[in-house]
Amino acid sequence: MSMNEHSRVYVAGHRGLVGSAIWRELQRRGFRNLIGRTRQEVDLLDAAAVSRFYAETKPEFVFIAAAKVGGILANDQQPASFLFENLQIQNHLIHGAWQAGVRKLLFLGSSCIYPKLAPQPLREESLLSGPLEPTNEWYAVAKIAGIKLCQAYRRQYGCDFISAMPTNMYGPNDNYDLQTSHVLPAFLRKFHEAKVSGAARVVCWGSGTPLREFLHADDLGRACVFLMQHYSEEQFINVGSGREVSIRELAELVGRIVGFTGEIVWDTTKPDGTPRKLMDSSRLFALGWRPQIDLEMGIRSAYEDFLAKRVG
Ligand code: GDP
Repeated sequence: MSMNEHSRVYVAGHRGLVGSAIWRELQRRGFRNLIGRTRQEVDLLDAAAVSRFYAETKPEFVFIAAAKVGGILANDQQPASFLFENLQIQNHLIHGAWQAGVRKLLFLGSSCIYPKLAPQPLREESLLSGPLEPTNEWYAVAKIAGIKLCQAYRRQYGCDFISAMPTNMYGPNDNYDLQTSHVLPAFLRKFHEAKVSGAARVVCWGSGTPLREFLHADDLGRACVFLMQHYSEEQFINVGSGREVSIRELAELVGRIVGFTGEIVWDTTKPDGTPRKLMDSSRLFALGWRPQIDLEMGIRSAYEDFLAKRVG
């Protein structure tokens, strides 16, 4: 039986950027038996706690949007935490799902699983064809292991476990801590604070030349629910918008949306990361799915969320 509004659906990481978007999409579609747990309620680093949780709640469908995530600096500074914690979280959730007889599971990875020099746009076939981008290889190695775990459980035990690899995400419930955030929330905060304080300059990291593709979390939420309902292959699948911008263009766009009129300067002592990261999402588009939120509209709504969280 496929997932419907009566199904018991567990969203791991339901308060995060991606998990909360999946949760909102399921609510919009009238799902009534949603299951979410905070870290205080179920510690995903604790195998016994995860197994107890599965036994008690008996979810039929599971979305894995729980992970230790962070931007370019955090990844570089905490390699052990990014590798160990992500392996633990996904092992417990995937193995536990098999033990608990979960009908279907969607594991979320990241576009950083691809080799640094893989041909662009990045196709699913490029997995494990070369060395990774060093600034986030710890996180990437964990996510690659997660994809393989889903494939292995499908082969050995017949589990309907699928994986999706989203491009760079942004949207409500993002992390705005400047040390650990990704670029888009960092820009919202930096440009907003500069505007409010009347600062003449905003300092951005790197050269501004790297190219990145961005997808609003609500589009990813829709894609995840779509895949849970329509996709059951061993092959993991890319989820992107197909549109890329340079970090410099992004800074100018965020500056304009926020209303910052000063100067943008680049701190080239900070890393650029990979020069380009555009996904080839034709596999997903061929199934009939398309993103709905363009970058400017998406940034405007993310800025509203940022402002609401600040005041409220
Ligand atoms: P990445 O896509 O894995 O490299 O992760 P990020 O979103 O952290 O960084 C994307 C690009 O934005 C990199 O080239 C960064 O150097 C650049 N960047 C510029 N300013 C910032 C900033 O304030 N924070 C972050 N996280 N990245 C920034």
